[in-house]
Amino acid sequence: MEITTRNNAEHKSKANDYVHEVFELVKQRNPGEKEFLQATREIFDSLRPVFLKHPEYIHNGILERITEPDRVITFRVAWEDDTGKVQVNRGFRVQFNNSLGPYKGGIRFHPTVNSSIMKFLAFEQTFKNALTGQPIGAGKGGSDFNPKGKSEREIMRFTQSFITELSKYIGPDMDVPAGDIGVGKREIGYMFGQYNRLRGGYEAGVFTGKDPNHGGSLGRKEATGYGTVYFVEEMLKNVNDSFEGKKVVVSGSGNVAIYAMEKAIELGAVVLACSDSTGYIYDPKGINVETIKQLKEFDSKRIREYTKTHPNAVYHDGCTDIWSVACDIALPCATQNEMDKDDAIMLIENGVRAVGEGANMPCTEDAILAFQAKGVLFAPAKAANAGGVAVSAMEMSQNSMRLSWTVEEVDEKLKTVMKNIYTSCYSAAESYGHPGNLVIGANIAGFLKVADAMVAHGIH
Ligand code: NDP
Repeated sequence: MEITTRNNAEHKSKANDYVHEVFELVKQRNPGEKEFLQATREIFDSLRPVFLKHPEYIHNGILERITEPDRVITFRVAWEDDTGKVQVNRGFRVQFNNSLGPYKGGIRFHPTVNSSIMKFLAFEQTFKNALTGQPIGAGKGGSDFNPKGKSEREIMRFTQSFITELSKYIGPDMDVPAGDIGVGKREIGYMFGQYNRLRGGYEAGVFTGKDPNHGGSLGRKEATGYGTVYFVEEMLKNVNDSFEGKKVVVSGSGNVAIYAMEKAIELGAVVLACSDSTGYIYDPKGINVETIKQLKEFDSKRIREYTKTHPNAVYHDGCTDIWSVACDIALPCATQNEMDKDDAIMLIENGVRAVGEGANMPCTEDAILAFQAKGVLFAPAKAANAGGVAVSAMEMSQNSMRLSWTVEEVDEKLKTVMKNIYTSCYSAAESYGHPGNLVIGANIAGFLKVADAMVAHGIH
């Protein structure tokens, strides 16, 4: 008995030492990469119980290998603006892990894009893509190019220059990019056209997020937002609750936010507020999502314009104050680290019951801990927003079969994927001693899939 207890203590300390040592190594190798270190720390904290049960992962150096990208490609993107001036941006593609399939992940055009943000997104994608159960590896890419205020032709010239360089590293069985912030079906269309022009063929499977009229999947545009709501719905069902009659606040008003709002409203909720990067609107009668679509998807207007057609609504300058609006369910769907501990405390004091991350890493670690300490149901991004990439993988399947599924078929498959993700996160949390903690459950469930494939494929 004494020996068993001593063995257990030794095992525990070996697992803890391993996690600690590898994290120190990651810090040394990636100095100043705040977002990447934040994402790795969160995963590492969750994985301690895994190494206790599976010392073979320590023996195979899985943590050291899984935190080092397969490769990071950075490149110059030179292009000419409408005045004839030469502009230079930096392009990135982080091919993080292909143990489960071709690298897969979006491309972001935003002035904040840097190596740390690209690596954090690609690292998160590794676990998210594994959770979908689809045969896809993980990557992420982008540029510090700011599409705001650029003409249509400037966007086309920039995008063509970006993909001319990146085309050397991607392909349907190699790396399949998609959209993200600042990259929608228009930009994907330009990349696809230029890639085919360079290759002299038509490789439908090289990008996802294409226009459904030109090789894209129906239901892709809606998938991330709808998927987030389906995941939160599962979480609520588990405590005999639902969206019906709930007050919801959604940050952002882009692709993820719009379709999260649409689905929440369809399920009987009232969305009271949404935002853009300059401010938020509060509509006591409930946000009209069709107006938001018109403003954001078609007219590229600021969110404050909403009040022109909805005089009951109020516009507030400053986007972070949106979390002062009392609600039952909060869905941060804008960007990373948009909700901190103070925001979380405000939401808790105002009675929030569930939080679902539609964006990638929108809540800081302290905010998540605050929710968990007060028993608020919390759906982490890598599980809750995996619906987008899951439907992207479905687009790849449709492209290789040269057929198109109906929107109903895609939505049905999306629902099943989100339900399965919820179940695997919930079960992993339970089996590894943290019942109900979906952050830990998602990290462990995703990690196990990738780690097993890495062990099977040998050390490289
Ligand atoms: P979009 O570019 O379509 O929309 C982003 C929205 O967030 C815009 O309304 C933008 O406002 C707003 N925004 C940006 N910064 C802030 C801020 N600090 N506070 C409030 N609002 C802000 O991007 P997506 O909807 O595609 O992506 C949103 C998030 O979801 C990102 O984290 C992305 O990585 C993640 N995600 C996206 C997926 C997808 O399928 N699209 C898949 C999985 C994750 P403005 O109009 O002023 O710029």
